Amino acid sequence: MVSTLDATTPKIVEPTIFDLSSPGRVGVRMPESDVPAADSPPPHLLRSELPLPELAEVDVVRHYVRLSKFNYSVDGGFYPLGSCTMKYNPKINEDTCRLPGFLFTHPLQPVETVQGNLALMYQLQEWLKEIAGFAGVTLQPAAGAHGEFTGVLMMRAYHKSRGDEKRVKMLIPDAAHGTNPASVGMMGMTVVTIPSDDRGNVDLKKLEEACDDTVVGMMLTNPNTLGMFDENVEKVISLVHGCGGLMYGDGANLNPLLGIVRPGDLGFDVMHFNLHKTFAVPHGGGGPGVGPVGVGPKLVDFLPEPLVGIIEEGEEDMPPLYGFVKPAKTIGRMKAFHGHFGGGFVRSFTYIAMHGPDGLKDIAQYAVLNANYLQARLRDHYHIPFDRICMHEFVMEGQFEGSDVRALDISKRLMDYNFHPPTNYFPLIVHEALMIEPTETENKDTLDAFADALIQIAKEAKSTPEIVKSAPNDTLFGRMDEVKAARELVLCCWLPEGYDLNA
Ligand SMILES: *Cc1c(COP(=O)(O)O)cnc(C)c1O
Repeated sequence: MVSTLDATTPKIVEPTIFDLSSPGRVGVRMPESDVPAADSPPPHLLRSELPLPELAEVDVVRHYVRLSKFNYSVDGGFYPLGSCTMKYNPKINEDTCRLPGFLFTHPLQPVETVQGNLALMYQLQEWLKEIAGFAGVTLQPAAGAHGEFTGVLMMRAYHKSRGDEKRVKMLIPDAAHGTNPASVGMMGMTVVTIPSDDRGNVDLKKLEEACDDTVVGMMLTNPNTLGMFDENVEKVISLVHGCGGLMYGDGANLNPLLGIVRPGDLGFDVMHFNLHKTFAVPHGGGGPGVGPVGVGPKLVDFLPEPLVGIIEEGEEDMPPLYGFVKPAKTIGRMKAFHGHFGGGFVRSFTYIAMHGPDGLKDIAQYAVLNANYLQARLRDHYHIPFDRICMHEFVMEGQFEGSDVRALDISKRLMDYNFHPPTNYFPLIVHEALMIEPTETENKDTLDAFADALIQIAKEAKSTPEIVKSAPNDTLFGRMDEVKAARELVLCCWLPEGYDLNA
């Protein structure tokens, strides 16, 4: 039995690790104990039965390697999941984050013994400030959404510190990522949705109407989730500032701006970075996310504590002494210890150091070139509602006149062509949205093969729609009942006897 999902029967029945077990088989021979035996835990804490599979090491390795091959990954193929920036993650980052000096440090060590770690964190703060044009950066937040929450807390603290207590509204465009209204809602603020105009920009008239002295600020993703750079961004920011609000930038889409535009220079007061998107920390398997937040001069005193700072300048050629500093009006701590050091900071530090300023600019330019190339190849085959030069991604409609094929069907059919589907049904303002972000790390052959597959599927949608509607046809599992899979998630295939999943 593979799964209790009954929507689809797998084409090959995979044995579980328990099916492979054979009594007495072992994977490890324990040495004779050379210390006195400890007492067992009290009997009431022991389970009566905990059957473990009995296998040799080679059986376990083969079982999990075989299963891993059923997964799709950035290292396995093209992954154009819009908004997620699924770029290739260079393997040198894996070497540096495993250097023993980084790997074997403890967050409670005295600062004198972790000067290298602190120097790396300090430099990363400085680089992010320079890349995005900010006055200060915290590395603490554990994801983009956590960075949003941190940023909005600082915005609220700023208004409060000025005795400005009536600001409760956050303006959020209709193209925003769902985390924006969620972060704001968690703080009890009210979300005011601002529509987009027909060029995919913020509707300036609607924005002007919403701007008043109850506005905390605005959360703007630029380029937005349509892949459009807001042509009036400076006007948008001056409207928000004009009514005393602060400007939050959702920096998840920073990839196409690296080395080209600095959000801080445009007038953004605060922005989160997604190191796990733009700066090559692997993601998709549950983490670690890293969502540093940069702030302009108005918010720099409100940053979470502690920040890494220079405690004492070094004499002559000596490096400075690094330590922790506390901003004057800090909102407090946002994360235990110092954030995701090895998995996040060291990898992103390596990535930025390896690219340098010119390399970062290349990333942005190739990301934009690749997206525009794909958009140009697909324009005649799919309807693109906001059809102008895009940034790092674009959104097209997954539907055709006279065919009942939908975006979901197209995505599933792409799996038969060995491609990961694009993002589906987001942003909400495009019907049957397919949001495609190729990233800078793909070559022209891959982009062409992907475009060919999508063009082929557009033809199939008219000539043989049943093939598209029944897809995926060539994968281990057929089409899942996705609602049921999310609501009744079964993560293990074996349960102890008497254990009721629904209890
Ligand atoms: C990914 C993303 C977020 C949220 O980031 P997480 O790290 O997933 O919490 C917010 N906004 C946009 C536009 C994103 O693409």
